[in-house]
Amino acid sequence: SIVVTGATGHLGRLVIDGLLAAGIPAGEVAAVVRDKDKAAGLAERGVELRIADYNAPETLRGAFAAGDRLLLISGSEVGQRVAQHRAVIDAAREAGVALLAYTGVLGGPDADFDLAAEHKVTERLVLDSGLPYTFLRNGWYHENYTEHLAPVLEHGAVVASAGEGRVASASRADYAAAAVAVLTGEGHEGKAYELSGDVAWSMAEYAAEVARQSGKDIGYANVPAEQHLAILTGAGVPEPMAAILVDVDAAIARGRLAGTSGDLARLIGRPTTPLADAVSVALRG
Ligand code: NDP
Repeated sequence: SIVVTGATGHLGRLVIDGLLAAGIPAGEVAAVVRDKDKAAGLAERGVELRIADYNAPETLRGAFAAGDRLLLISGSEVGQRVAQHRAVIDAAREAGVALLAYTGVLGGPDADFDLAAEHKVTERLVLDSGLPYTFLRNGWYHENYTEHLAPVLEHGAVVASAGEGRVASASRADYAAAAVAVLTGEGHEGKAYELSGDVAWSMAEYAAEVARQSGKDIGYANVPAEQHLAILTGAGVPEPMAAILVDVDAAIARGRLAGTSGDLARLIGRPTTPLADAVSVALRG
């Protein structure tokens, strides 16, 4: 089977959709989920559910079978993810999966920002497992920005501390399509793909695009890191997450998320989705 973890998440749902659209029979697709009720729609479509929680290694035994092609979608609980991913990798190794694809972060071992740390350790664990692997080093999602337009529209400003740094983001659907290409194609073993959008944009350009499409006066407020942290915590973002977001902006300012290798467009066989399209979806639904 082709097995997808995090299948009830945003990316995982798109991957399952893509596998079915690519003609993989639903009976050959398995979704690893921790919440059966949330996965009811997947079961209705004939996708096999395998119930497991990254935090409970014993539930992961039996979640994989020899010959499975497995997509490990990185977890969402920052700080817990090394132990969680290790549990999945151990279970995959014991089962003897044919391929383990992992959604890491752009830059792989060279990514030097806080959010990358757990991805780097995970890649190392995958290598040490000896399993056939593919690294899908995902750059930023458009949706990290466009799903948070409300304060931008309210205050008339994109507030960030990224300076003139650029972000080569792509849509979640683009990254999902890349995962589908790897899971359904051949020749991807041992490869590390640096996945990112075809175009790297600056915060000022993003503000200008939101202004153009909304008809509102919107600029870029580049603030110092300490002020950015205070703004985020003041808006209710928990301090550890706010610190991670400010650290990401520093990485953007250093150009760490601007790489345009073309790997993503090559894997999906089409240009990546323009940021303007994601802005349009967010504004108009
Ligand atoms: P989501 O938060 O929508 O999905 C995360 C998935 O992981 C969910 O299906 C969730 O299950 C599952 N999950 C979390 N913890 C556990 C657990 N303990 N046991 C089993 N399953 C678990 O994120 P996205 O789909 O948008 O993104 C996928 C991943 O990509 C994220 O988890 C994160 O690692 C990374 N990411 C990357 C970004 C980028 O810009 N490149 C931006 C944001 C995230 P459930 O549905 O039950 O909650």
